[in-house]
Amino acid sequence: MSERVLTFEEALGEVLAHSRSSVLELAVETVELLAGVGRVLGAAVVADRDQPAFDRSTRDGFAVRADDIGSALRVVGALRAGERWSGSALAEGEAVEIMTGAPLPAGADSVVMIEHVQFEESLLRVKAGRSLRVGENVVPRGAEARAGSVVLPAGRVMGAAEIAVAASCGLGSVKVFARPRVAIVATGDELVELDEAMEAWQIRNSNSYALATMVEAEGGVGERLDVARDTLEDLRERVAEGRSSDLLLLSGGVSMGKYDLVEQVLLEAGAEFCFTGVLIQPGKPIVFGRLPRAKAQNLGDRKQGPEGPFYSGSAEWTYFFGLPGNPVSTQVCFHLFVAPMLRALCGRSEIAPRFVEARLGEEVKGGARVTRFLPAEMAGGWDGVTVRVVGWQGSGDVAANARGNGYVVLPAGVEQFPAGLTVRVLLR
Ligand code: AMP
Ligand code: MG
Repeated sequence: MSERVLTFEEALGEVLAHSRSSVLELAVETVELLAGVGRVLGAAVVADRDQPAFDRSTRDGFAVRADDIGSALRVVGALRAGERWSGSALAEGEAVEIMTGAPLPAGADSVVMIEHVQFEESLLRVKAGRSLRVGENVVPRGAEARAGSVVLPAGRVMGAAEIAVAASCGLGSVKVFARPRVAIVATGDELVELDEAMEAWQIRNSNSYALATMVEAEGGVGERLDVARDTLEDLRERVAEGRSSDLLLLSGGVSMGKYDLVEQVLLEAGAEFCFTGVLIQPGKPIVFGRLPRAKAQNLGDRKQGPEGPFYSGSAEWTYFFGLPGNPVSTQVCFHLFVAPMLRALCGRSEIAPRFVEARLGEEVKGGARVTRFLPAEMAGGWDGVTVRVVGWQGSGDVAANARGNGYVVLPAGVEQFPAGLTVRVLLR
């Protein structure tokens, strides 16, 4: 088969384009509000009333007519949050004591802060030098949202901020997209499962667990299939099992070795490859493509969801990633390429990998011909973020990878990265 090796930018561009254009129809389900945490909103949340629903005081103080504050004012009542003013509209020279969150009484147009007033012979005076604009310390009715307007679009992940909005609209339950099912297949003759006895030269399967964790963290349902040995029969069987999922992830078996058979098996199964390698390190042998999804495979053997067909993504294709087996490569490739596709399958509107800028804490040697993503630790905050590469033994070093909290990006063709240089860091 023909190879197609892309630069990092080209490869990411292809993944993003496929992610955005091929995810057509996502099932929606209704869950209780707090069960919606971490899920992707499947329908817009609309304000059920004006927000605020009344002119709301933002301060403890006195509701007044701003034009009156040059003279002494009579306090004609008090108003707490949760009450409404039942007296007559404020007349000239009158004020109403008001608490934060209370509705402005009719006739008042502003609130003077309690810190800005004093009493003289039971009359209220605004302290010298203090002014007051009409509307000051008041949020007018509907200024935050008009009844019927969208306060949260579909496609947002539900965190505390979004849950607060839904709660403020009185929603005890929310519509969310069904979680995509992701088949996870580790491949390799050397792999041993966690509960199996092993020889010194064998390797424990950690990738299935790392992948399941990352899949869940991005909102998918990870389904770990049995490890595939490096045989055509085993790989064929696992690909056949995995291709009815919304996404198929394989680890290992995509390098140039004699026992790297994953691409051959995918090709046989009818795969279209978008790329067969990316000029990055670690992760160069990654392959990305799609398998035709037979109709029977996307609907026939699936349950109907509560509000529509229970499947995610493209009705025509199951996308796959063949990830390099070395655990750090697997994880870097996940964050760079798999996560965006998975976010799209989850219905998220923002899918691109997340990078931040940080200052290099110490010099790093360059000179590589590919873009590198090295395990690195970011620290700091207020004075800016500093990043340091963690010492590691290469892409098999899971322990070093766990000492970091992101990956510093070192562009190709640069000889030296001096301390203090602003660099990008891939978040995980
Ligand atoms: P491969 O990409 O198949 O050539 O695998 C490269 C190396 O990654 C192997 O020699 C193993 O050391 C390691 N490896 C492959 N698969 C896994 C796995 N599932 N868990 C942990 N390490 C793995
Ligand atoms: Mg292998």
